[in-house]
Amino acid sequence: MDLIFASHNNHKISELKAILPAGFILKGLPEMNYLEEIPETGVTLAENALIKAKTIFNLFGLNTISDDTGLEIEALDGAPGVWSARFAGEESNSQKNMNKVLTLLNDQTNRKAQFKTVIALIMDGTEYLFEGVVKGSILKSPRGNGGFGYDPIFEPEGYDCSFAEMAPSVKNKISHRGRAVEGLLNFLKSVQ
Ligand code: IMP
Repeated sequence: MDLIFASHNNHKISELKAILPAGFILKGLPEMNYLEEIPETGVTLAENALIKAKTIFNLFGLNTISDDTGLEIEALDGAPGVWSARFAGEESNSQKNMNKVLTLLNDQTNRKAQFKTVIALIMDGTEYLFEGVVKGSILKSPRGNGGFGYDPIFEPEGYDCSFAEMAPSVKNKISHRGRAVEGLLNFLKSVQ
């Protein structure tokens, strides 16, 4: 089965290519020569994932998947959530985003948080959603050099280290994205 991954992120594309079983041919947006950004105008992760998947499905007519991820912090009523990438403003980067989280949680004792990934699949015109969650807490300061995004300040439940201190294989096994991909794979195998 041919599948397009509606993403420009080469790291994510190669990660998924490595996981997909034989019989699936995955192409990211750079391989489709589609270089435009798709505006993420939804107010939920599912809406944004569907916007990206539908845009590409409608353009190429091929089965398409896409993903959207957010960090949800209990004491901040679920923020940054769907706005995780731009939490510190349009010109934000991971460092600025993490600093904003740490400042907002400065005196906060409730540091519970979770990462959530929603994967959308449009197959033969029908929409499917797969969700993955990992619960944990926000550290007092960044730890570790691995991973990306908010990894240095997120400690998954049951572990004594941040995501950025873990081997990627360990993180992928327990992570939000790993769990959402697992749901997608189970579904794809069932229809293959
Ligand atoms: P996206 O939906 O994957 O583009 O991610 C939205 C935001 O969440 C960006 O700021 C990413 O850096 C951050 N993010 C996504 N996945 C992870 C992760 O696995 N660890 C830490 N941050 C992440």
